[in-house]
Amino acid sequence: MATTKSALVVGSGIAGLAAALRLHQAGWRVRVVERAPLRRGGGYAVSFAGIGYDAAERMGILPELVDRHITPDTMVYVKRDGSTSFTVPGRTVRAMAGERNLNLLRGDIEDVLHRRVGEHVRISYGTTVEHIEQDADGVRARLSDGTEAVADLLVGADGLHSTTRAQVFGPESAFRRDLDHMVGVFMLDRLPRGVEPGTTASATDTGRTLAVIDLGRNGAAAFFGYRTAAPDAELAAGPHTAVPRAYADMGWVAPQVLEQLAGADDVYFDTVSQMVVDRWSRGRVVLLGDAAWCVTLFAGYGSALAVGGADALGTALEEHGDDVASALAAWEARIRPEAERKQRLGRRVKGLYAPKDPLRLWLRDLPLRTASRPWMSRLIQRRLQLKG
Ligand SMILES: Cc1cc2nc3c(=O)[nH]c(=O)nc-3n(C[C@H](O)[C@H](O)[C@H](O)COP(=O)(O)OP(=O)(O)OC[C@H]3O[C@@H](n4cnc5c(N)ncnc54)[C@H](O)[C@@H]3O)c2cc1C
Repeated sequence: MATTKSALVVGSGIAGLAAALRLHQAGWRVRVVERAPLRRGGGYAVSFAGIGYDAAERMGILPELVDRHITPDTMVYVKRDGSTSFTVPGRTVRAMAGERNLNLLRGDIEDVLHRRVGEHVRISYGTTVEHIEQDADGVRARLSDGTEAVADLLVGADGLHSTTRAQVFGPESAFRRDLDHMVGVFMLDRLPRGVEPGTTASATDTGRTLAVIDLGRNGAAAFFGYRTAAPDAELAAGPHTAVPRAYADMGWVAPQVLEQLAGADDVYFDTVSQMVVDRWSRGRVVLLGDAAWCVTLFAGYGSALAVGGADALGTALEEHGDDVASALAAWEARIRPEAERKQRLGRRVKGLYAPKDPLRLWLRDLPLRTASRPWMSRLIQRRLQLKG
């Protein structure tokens, strides 16, 4: 009788929980360690499509994700002085997103995965891995709670600043490709005056974007993305210093949003960086999700790749039986082209995300401006056969 194989997953973000669920489905015994003291919730809204959507369907979590879908609505593009530049109607936004594409809170994807793995997988919060050793037969990890975990496979799903990667593959600086922007997101207590309920309103000027996203029953989020030549210095300054400094003279609803930021204690703030790691596994340690390939928000595909990557990992392990090395090689060959394609897309978007130059900004907005025209809106909706 074959013995049950075991995996230790580091990190309980989308990648970690998706790996836990998929490996459990493949018959593995799985344990997860998570540095945070408690499960985090909320977070920003992400679009979830492609291989992630297909994988969610195979893994049986699609109906729960569909239940959490936030229907995208009107997008309002605002000029420097706060007046409306153009508006893309909700029906056109939905038609452009296409089918098999969900708009989800990051925390909702985690929540759906967490509920599914619930009783099958032990998750130890407030716990990290301090040291990793491996040989041909297995991996031994010394945990921060003083115990040792032994497994057939260790999955490093601990995000952009992965400790697993630093411990087994090398220092972050060897793999990090900065895209010279910072991103900040936090949940607003109230919608700023001047932003209509049910809309996503955004303004871009001089290399910075501010967006306010009404998420309906989920509240509203403020989103900052700005250019910088010194990402590490911005990161060190922290969101409460760096963001007000970058947006001090923006106008529009920026003063109201900055006022709320001053009192916000849960702010996501990071550099926009890709991870370029030549091989995603070393022996029985494999990286997954942002730890392995972070494609950045510019590609808008990290959650989808995390779930798609976890599903493909489970499939490869099922197909290769006890031969973990062959499974990891086959898995990487399957996922790498998609991850690299999305990284290329992320690098292209870098120049367009928050252009400094007004002409570039106008060119960036041209397709959306065209889509906002009633005749084009009708054509897009008809072409994509969107009803309702
Ligand atoms: C602003 C923004 C917008 C985005 N928009 C989209 C989008 O539209 N579409 C899309 O598909 N993706 C989007 N993404 C990307 C997406 O959120 C991530 O790619 C996805 O969540 C996968 O993350 P992950 O699980 O690999 O890492 P993370 O979410 O970073 O999770 C890592 C986990 O590991 C834990 N951890 C870290 N270190 C340790 C340690 N040493 N020990 C134990 N645990 C540890 C962390 O606490 C965390 O829980 C966006 C990202 C950002 C920042």
